[in-house]
Amino acid sequence: MKTATRRSLGRKSLLATALGLFALAGLAAQPAAAEERAKDLFGAKKLPVATSPQSIGFYSKGCFAGGVAIPMDGPTWEVMRPSRNRRWGHPAMIAVIEKLSRDAAADGWPGLLIGDISQPRGGPMMTGHASHQIGLDADIWLTPMPSSPLSVAQRETKSATLMVDEKTHLVKDALWTPAHARLLKRAASYPEVERILVNPGIKKKLCDTVKGDRDWLRKIRPFWGHDYHFHMRIGCQPGSPNCKAQEATPPDDGCGKPLAWWFTEEPWRPNKNPDAPKARDLMTMANLPKECRAVLDAPGPASAEAATYHGGSVPVAAAMPEPEVPSLPATTASGAAGLPSSVNAFTATPEIGIPLPRPRPGN
Ligand SMILES: [Zn+2]
Repeated sequence: MKTATRRSLGRKSLLATALGLFALAGLAAQPAAAEERAKDLFGAKKLPVATSPQSIGFYSKGCFAGGVAIPMDGPTWEVMRPSRNRRWGHPAMIAVIEKLSRDAAADGWPGLLIGDISQPRGGPMMTGHASHQIGLDADIWLTPMPSSPLSVAQRETKSATLMVDEKTHLVKDALWTPAHARLLKRAASYPEVERILVNPGIKKKLCDTVKGDRDWLRKIRPFWGHDYHFHMRIGCQPGSPNCKAQEATPPDDGCGKPLAWWFTEEPWRPNKNPDAPKARDLMTMANLPKECRAVLDAPGPASAEAATYHGGSVPVAAAMPEPEVPSLPATTASGAAGLPSSVNAFTATPEIGIPLPRPRPGN
């Protein structure tokens, strides 16, 4: 989800004010070093925490441990904007993306261009996205993977296709294909996937055209932006007792009144206060779940490759004891149930060792 929503919601301003006050109150009570912005601290982390996977907090206010990276290239995907280092997620998220890329290819979509997932340890980001903080959100482009491989430079610069007319908020019919609908239906078909955020124009196109089974439309949720990509969100995973679930979507297809609201003037009014700081600009560690401090300070794997997901063929001993992360709540024994075998992909091995924690970035 992008934070660049185009209006100022009253409650958002209230939140910003509340966070601001919170930050000020904290500033008075604590040394200045403790008030570093969370986005700077999490944004500086290059590697995940080497432990079993655990999401902490909420999609827009949290962090995660035990993240894995999706490889830059797969048979049916390519990672876009690699310099951002946001190809990290909970192993279950990465597994769903990989599965979607395979299934979509079988459905006739040549492959996925993968946008932002999360930072290595999640948390708020320097730019974009209010959510994507706990490793359970991923952006997938609505442009199919080209037939010839993209160079690194092309992945940084290739522009995305805007699927929606900015004035009418309707899908551009010349660009929309049945394959787009099939891709979204496939993503919505997975039980792990709880919501898929799309531009209201895309939701409307689906509402107007999907015949037969419409049950999956329940998961397709209209939101600002999301006109060149869709946002796939999975639920809290086993082994994450401090992950806060989002309330379930209403049981209907969402094509009625709530969708009609998006085609009124109200959602598109100009932001009255465009320069107001966003939550991510104000959040300090005090605003995140307290476990996120331990996530920030815990040791990482030896390299990004050591924590890269390779399906079932990870050459790492999953049975090795896990490194101690004392302040993190213990995960349950059933934590890995139903997850791919690489869940413990970078459980420490003698070869990898446990590197010393990275020094806190200087101020
Ligand atoms: Zn997103």
